[in-house]
Amino acid sequence: MKTTQYQIIIVGAGSAGMCCAIRAAERGLHVLVIEKDTFVGGTLHLTAGHLSAGGTRRQKFKDIEDSPQNHYDEVMKISQHTANPEIVKLATELAPKTVDWLEDNGFKFATETPAIIYGHAPYTTPRTYWGNQDYAGGRIATAGITIFNTLKPIWDKFVEEGKIKILLEHKLTNLLKIDNRVVGVKVLHQGNEQIFHGLNIVLTTGGYASNPDFFKKVTPEHPRLISTARETSTGDGIIAAQAIGAKFQGAEMHNSTLGGIELEPMSGRTDFWKYWARVSNSIDRKPREIYVNEQAERFINEDESNPDVREKLVHKQTGRRFWLIFDEIALMAGASIIPQWTQEKIKAECQNEKAMWMASSITELAQKIGLDSGKLNDTVTKFNDNCKNKIDSDFGRNLTNLEVVFPIEKAPFYAILTYAYSLITFGGLATNNKLQILNEDNLPIEGLYAAGEIMGVSSTSGNAFCGGMVLTPALSFGKYLGETL
Ligand SMILES: Cc1cc2nc3c(=O)[nH]c(=O)nc-3n(C[C@H](O)[C@H](O)[C@H](O)COP(=O)(O)OP(=O)(O)OC[C@H]3O[C@@H](n4cnc5c(N)ncnc54)[C@H](O)[C@@H]3O)c2cc1C
Repeated sequence: MKTTQYQIIIVGAGSAGMCCAIRAAERGLHVLVIEKDTFVGGTLHLTAGHLSAGGTRRQKFKDIEDSPQNHYDEVMKISQHTANPEIVKLATELAPKTVDWLEDNGFKFATETPAIIYGHAPYTTPRTYWGNQDYAGGRIATAGITIFNTLKPIWDKFVEEGKIKILLEHKLTNLLKIDNRVVGVKVLHQGNEQIFHGLNIVLTTGGYASNPDFFKKVTPEHPRLISTARETSTGDGIIAAQAIGAKFQGAEMHNSTLGGIELEPMSGRTDFWKYWARVSNSIDRKPREIYVNEQAERFINEDESNPDVREKLVHKQTGRRFWLIFDEIALMAGASIIPQWTQEKIKAECQNEKAMWMASSITELAQKIGLDSGKLNDTVTKFNDNCKNKIDSDFGRNLTNLEVVFPIEKAPFYAILTYAYSLITFGGLATNNKLQILNEDNLPIEGLYAAGEIMGVSSTSGNAFCGGMVLTPALSFGKYLGETL
């Protein structure tokens, strides 16, 4: 039986895969896209959508001087040279073209962008962009939906014209290799195996932040995975490529985000958009709580503004988790610690005693959350004394700002358990700067390419969070492969 050979098979119709398919279809290639989900878009439906690029039209329009080289230099500086220089070079060179291309296709910027943002270690130049649309229903920030809404009409047109063939609910299981060339993919659809042949195969299946077993295997030093990634991010492409000898690297650089609340204990899930404790820096909200670890001790100046310093300190704590401890006055004195929740909702959740607790004394609170009550009383007493003396002899927190600093004295007392959690994963398939996937000898596997989070966030961001350096490279690299293969 004669089988069709596609010029390009793209596995995964998310951020990278959609851009790749669109650009390839524009060139008239015969494109097949394999997608395991029931719809396209992948993490574009979830991402905050922050893009970073130096040297865009948008910056010129706003008289902001910048260049790919400046962006590259700052990424390497923020990542302390742990990111892959070749890949960062390519990513920063392609980034302004990607942002301009989105704009050409109708992407509408939020008016305040480009901006400097402080959720991660900030760039010194305004080079972060996001769109002007948002999901309805309690989302707190403008999400990547603007990007999806820009790409989708172009995608639909090519699908209608037959230039992109999309197979939904088709899951990649294996890559077919003859000698050193990948020649096709094996997929599972409704329990049946199917094989498709292609000249070039592009893997854009994303990361593995929703695969606790794989996460544990590649980052054994990390405690349990608490994730807010899309459920589809299960590392399938990585696993299939490893099975034919591809090199996996960078997982040891894994970094996590602060403030994950695991509402259902042991579920391994949190939701950045629906409930998340604002503890990533002290700029967006001044802390009115103290943070205590499993030893019932403070371990940080809660007012520390540098996200990197905060993350590193939290990573040293057992279980990479800590409790926010506060009283009724602190609860009610200003913006909620969970931006999407009112104080009343926090109180109501305390009744469930799963991730939040309320008690009439510190001793009772300690008992409820399983901490040593003597130690927690000591920690609170010491903090209260410091408040009265206006000097934090342990961590140097500024205790003079009486709008946010209160001794923990007025019942009820509260505790919220938060984890360092994962949105994204840092390990991935090694590639060269043509995005060819490499084998263990660092030689390209012919016909096999990668774009997006499958390459590991460490390739573009090292062991740090460099703003926009996950999504922008995913879009850029997908687009680049669609233009060049
Ligand atoms: C809440 C959140 C906020 C974020 N905010 C930002 C941000 O502001 N800036 C930034 O730079 N980054 C951000 N990121 C990260 C960034 O958005 C993602 O890394 C990026 O979108 C991933 O793109 P991708 O194409 O690699 O994967 P995805 O977009 O996840 O696409 C992968 C696709 O492959 C499919 N797939 C998986 N396995 C298979 C299989 N076996 N067979 C077929 N199909 C398969 C999936 O269903 C999915 O559709 C955020 C991530 C999250 C979760």
